[in-house]
This record gives sequence, structure tokens and C-alpha cells, in this order.
Amino acid sequence: MAKELNEFIAIALGVCVFINLVVIGICVYIDISNQMKNRKLYKSAFVDNITLLGNENYFKENSKIFLNSGRENNYLISLDINKFKVVNNLYGYDFCNKTLNILGRKLKTGIPKNNITCRMYSDVFAILVEYNGDIKDVLEKIHNDVSTINVDNILLHLNISMGVYKIKKSDRDINKILDKAYMARERIKGTYSDYYYMFDEALENSLIKEENIESSMEEALENREFEIIYQPKFFTSNEKIAGAESLVRWHRNGETIMPNDFIPLFEKNKFIIKLDLYIFEQVCKDLAYWKKEFDADLKVSVNVSKEHFMDENFIDEYIRIVDKYNVDKNNLELEITESATIDKKIDVVKIANKIKDLGFSISLDDFGTGYSSLAMLQELPIDVVKIDKIFVDKADYNSNKNMINYMVSIAKQKGSEIVVEGVETKEQADFIKALKCDIIQGYYYSKPIKEKEMEKYFMQNDKSLV
Ligand code: C2E
Ligand code: CA
Ligand code: CA
Repeated sequence: MAKELNEFIAIALGVCVFINLVVIGICVYIDISNQMKNRKLYKSAFVDNITLLGNENYFKENSKIFLNSGRENNYLISLDINKFKVVNNLYGYDFCNKTLNILGRKLKTGIPKNNITCRMYSDVFAILVEYNGDIKDVLEKIHNDVSTINVDNILLHLNISMGVYKIKKSDRDINKILDKAYMARERIKGTYSDYYYMFDEALENSLIKEENIESSMEEALENREFEIIYQPKFFTSNEKIAGAESLVRWHRNGETIMPNDFIPLFEKNKFIIKLDLYIFEQVCKDLAYWKKEFDADLKVSVNVSKEHFMDENFIDEYIRIVDKYNVDKNNLELEITESATIDKKIDVVKIANKIKDLGFSISLDDFGTGYSSLAMLQELPIDVVKIDKIFVDKADYNSNKNMINYMVSIAKQKGSEIVVEGVETKEQADFIKALKCDIIQGYYYSKPIKEKEMEKYFMQNDKSLV
């Protein structure tokens, strides 16, 4: 009996040990696979799979630790390869990835040890480095290290631009630090004589100017500091008014600020969405007033920044305003820039079709400057093509004539109306007329004018009144 009991205990113990071992085995397996999963997750969240350097997330996370570690003489270098697209077109995608990989390794190993080197996006790298000597020595070394690299036995000459910012003790926000290095880099992008630019007082001042604009824009909108002016457009056939474009001016402290000094910033911080809607509302108000007072039937074009297109339903707000003022949509044309058509994040064909379906006309602004493809143009439901001013500007028309002719033929083939912008002289106007473009907008006929001044066109439809 005792023997059987002992045997039973031994078997039971054996089973217990076995079960324990299985449980431990399962736990270890789960732990290892969790670790692997975590490593995979970490890799996808923090590692750039082309260069195997850290990615933008990694850079931002780790630079905080780097900056808090009490090191002095820290620099942020933002590096970009000039015309990398050409390499891409010439040698293809895989070759470019190899190039980026080799470049990444050279950067990481060629600079002083205390550094964080990451690929931020496409061909842009960021380097955070501590260096107690003259930083120009580091920049020169980077330049020499990477100016010629061997990829698949092809000797590639890389032309780089670096923006450099010396980090201050008071700098805490890595995004702001990155912005400063980017700004410095932008200064020399495309100039092949210099390969680096140090963030300096001039850039600091333009940053302060931007901050001033940003801190006052909301209040400016409330205080009605933004004014809408209209630039009339004229038919080439009879020189009568064909419509007008609405343009914004900002009146601040007795000064008039021009759109080029604030629109790019408003596009960056998205305030343009509010401003464009405000302008659109004022235009609708003016159209309703002109209709009531003068029975005017004028077509006004309004600039719509591509920032709106990030929200596919943006047009609902435009419809709401049109309905509020009971304006005929035939009197409105929305100007979208050609550059919006090449933004990969935007399905511009879908958006344009929606705008058209709702009854607005669409005009393609700055045509000829955006490098959009012909295929894309064929798909877009455009009523008007606006040929950019730069083609009219050049004094030597012969070299530009072919280009304008080509653009005119594309527009005509699509059945679009052709507007030519920026016509300043009789000579230019005659040239445009000879090309049988439909409409001219430019100082030769009229500069942008105040809304009250527009009334003269409704009383007598004659451009000689200007
Ligand atoms: P844009 O849409 O290409 O507008 C035409 C610009 O060319 C206007 O400059 C106009 O005043 C100028 N212009 C017209 N004819 C001539 C000419 O014969 N000679 C010269 N030198 N210039 C001429 P402006 O008003 O300074 O506007 C600059 C840009 O700012 C506009 O270029 C447009 O992109 C943007 N913008 C203006 N108002 C608005 C707005 O309400 N919303 C948005 N999103 N952008 C706007
Ligand atoms: Ca425009
Ligand atoms: Ca334009």
C-alpha cells in the first residue's frame, strides 16, 4: 500500500514538474515573442528602414535627452541633397535608396562622436552634435566626406546644402530649433557656391517678424484690418471689362502689408482658411450689393488656397456663404493654383469635380509654374487657365513665345478660356492679343482698385474710364 502511495506521489510530482516546465516554457515563449514584437514596433516607430539611422520620431525623442544632458556647444545641422530628384530620374529608386544608406553611414561615422544623426524625410538629414572647436571644420569634413560617393561602382558627386543653428541654453523646443536650421538651409538652397549657412541675426529678425504677424492675425481679422480690393480683367477682343479678381491687403498701424508678406505664413499655420472665407464672404456681400444697386452681372474670381483641400468638405462653407447672400454662383470663379495639382496628399481632380458640380467655375492660377502633368490637366474640369506673369515679364518674347503658344494650345484644346496676368505695357498687350488669348489682367489696363471704384464700370461699361 505504502509502495503504491509512493509511486502515486512520484507520478503526481512528475506531472506537476512537467506542467510547471510547460507553463514556464509558454511564459518564456510569450516573453520572447513580446520582446520581438516590441522590437519590431520600436523599429517601425523609430528606425528609418533605408538608412537604418533613427527617423524623425527618434530624433525628436532623443534630442530632448541630449539637450538636457548639460552639454555645451551644441549645433543642429539640417542637411539636404541638391537636385536629388535628378539622381532619382537617372538611376532609379533602388539606387537612390543605396545612396541614402551610404550617405547616412558616412554622416554618422564622419562627425564627432557625441551626435544624433537621423534621416528626417526624403533626402533631408538632421544632425545634433556637440563640438567645442570651430563648427566650420565639421561642416567642411561632412562636405568632403560626401561630395563623392561610390554606389554600385558609380562615382556620384553629391551637392549638399547645410543649415546650421548654434543651440542656446534657453532653447527648449526641438521643433523651433529644427525650424531655425531649416530656415538657414533654405537661404542657400540652389546656390551652388555655398554649402552651408549659419542661422544669423537677419534670419532671427524675420522669425520675430513672423511671430509678430502670428500673434496679431486673429485680432486683425476681428478688427477688420484686412481689405478686399479688385483687379478688373478685360476682353482682348473689345477691351471691355470681363470680370475682376479679389485680392487682399492688410492695413496695420497705418501701414499696408502686401499678401506676399503674410499669405505664405498663413498657409503654413492654416490661418489662410479663415482669411479666405472672410474674403469670400466680403466678395459675396459686394456682389449682392452691386446686383441690387446697379443690376451688375460681374464675374469675380476669388483665390482659394490649397490648404482648404485637406478637408474634402471645405466647399460646404463656401456654399453656406453663397446662400446667405443669395448670390448667383455663375458670378463666382474659384482660383486654385497649379501647385495644388501636384500635391500628392490632395485628390485635386475629385475636389475640382465637386466644386464644378456645385456650380462654381474653376480657374487654374499661375499656369506654367507648377509643373503639373499633361495627364492631370486633361482630367481637371477647368473653365479658365491663367497664364502666369513670369511668361509675360521676360523682355525677350521670342524665347517665351513658343512656351506661351504651347500653353495656349493646351488650354484651347481643353476648351478653357485663357487669361493672361501681369500685362504692363502696350507691347505686351499687343503680343497677347495676337495670340488670341481671351482676357488680359494687368497694370496696363488697371491696377487693383477699391470696391467703390469698381462702381464706375457698372455705370458705363468702358475701360477708357479707368
Ligand atoms: P495671384 O493670385 O497670382 O494674383 C495676381 C498678383 O499679381 C496680384 O498681386 C496682383 O496685384 C499682381 N499683378 C496683377 N497685374 C500685375 C501687373 O501688371 N504687374 C505686376 N507687377 N503685378 C501685377 P498681389 O495682390 O500682391 O497678390 C499676390 C499673391 O497673393 C496672389 O497672386 C495670390 O497668390 C495671393 N493672394 C492675394 N489675395 C489672396 C487671397 O485673398 N487669398 C489667397 N489665398 N491668396 C491671395
Ligand atoms: Ca489669383
Ligand atoms: Ca496668378
